[in-house]
Amino acid sequence: MFEHIQAAPADPILGLSDAFRQDTNPNKINLGVGVYKDEQGATPILKSVKQAEERLVDDENTKSYLSIEGEKAYRSAVKALLFGKDHDIIAKNRAHTAHTPGGTGALRVAAEFIKKHLPEATIWVSNPTWANHQAVFQSVGLEVGSYAYYDANAKTLDFESMLASLSQVPEGDVVLFHGCCHNPTGIDPTPAQWQQLAKLASKQGFLPLFDFAYQGFGNGLEEDAIGLRTFLEETPEMLIANSFSKNFGLYNERVGALTIVAETAEQASAAFTQIKRCARTNYSNPPSHGAAVVTEILTDDQLRSLWEMELASMRQRIQEMRTLFVNTLRAKGVEQDFSFISKQQGMFSFSGLTPDQVASLKEDHAIYIVGSGRLNVAGMTKNNMEQLCEAIAAVLS
Ligand code: PLP
Repeated sequence: MFEHIQAAPADPILGLSDAFRQDTNPNKINLGVGVYKDEQGATPILKSVKQAEERLVDDENTKSYLSIEGEKAYRSAVKALLFGKDHDIIAKNRAHTAHTPGGTGALRVAAEFIKKHLPEATIWVSNPTWANHQAVFQSVGLEVGSYAYYDANAKTLDFESMLASLSQVPEGDVVLFHGCCHNPTGIDPTPAQWQQLAKLASKQGFLPLFDFAYQGFGNGLEEDAIGLRTFLEETPEMLIANSFSKNFGLYNERVGALTIVAETAEQASAAFTQIKRCARTNYSNPPSHGAAVVTEILTDDQLRSLWEMELASMRQRIQEMRTLFVNTLRAKGVEQDFSFISKQQGMFSFSGLTPDQVASLKEDHAIYIVGSGRLNVAGMTKNNMEQLCEAIAAVLS
């Protein structure tokens, strides 16, 4: 029965991690997969997470199933983080949140929900976008289109073209926006541009789906929510897929959420029952541990302020590496202008390196970068910076 099955191509990002693991060069550098590294190049467990886990080990008294949508305390904490705890949407019960296995789980449930209940809808993603978006949506049979986003020459947001593309999106379609720290470009709309986009969504009548995987990695927890909160002033309906993989460092616990916002409490409740149905036929109910950790941290003043400090230090370290990278390249005699990298946000930047240069970095220098030239800035450290920039100078010359 299986004889005719061909091997699938390696995942462009996770396949790179496999190749990195197998590389025996002691000086290898991984700037591929989107995982935060500290100054020592490690991805440690946050102190706030460790402390929350210690409490949970002592207090936990069952491993029984969670409900399909997860624990109430977690779901409330997610909403407060997304909207701000005093937002009208919460008071009016217009939003419901389901705890999902990671941000990917949230996107998959959203995809199934859209396919089932908005069957005519095409979903539009930015060009470029996170490598898994198209695949997740196509896996449920959704049509995926792309809208203009990036100006590869200027290394900026091509806002005029973005507006022009989105002006063609018909009523009833779905448009995915990266809430902040756009992956892979590191370029987000400004507050004024978010306003224009929100007004356009309202005029066109498309449904916004926010993918919010990096809250706190851009400018801060509240600041990074500006895009989706601006939209909520203009559009009464929205889907939000958020992830705590990065901002809590809980990558392998698979913790995220899908939130639906509707025009009325009744509509939100009815639609949410359908979201629960998609979750039930997909993974039945979510894994408990990661969400219990997040809830413990978000609802305890001491743990929360420790976490916010840890998050701020991750954010600041990345920003520092951006500046150091640009300065070190310059010091190594690279004439090409990389200053755009210090102006971008979050873990990633598009370097503009060509596929040949990326291949040479891997083959000749044991430096692993995604084929598109996307750099994980969070993989840079003061210790690997000289080696990295020398290698880039070599492949550019
Ligand atoms: N969305 C974006 C834009 C991402 O970059 C990622 C992870 O890299 C995800 C979603 C998925 O997050 P998770 O690992 O929680 O599934």
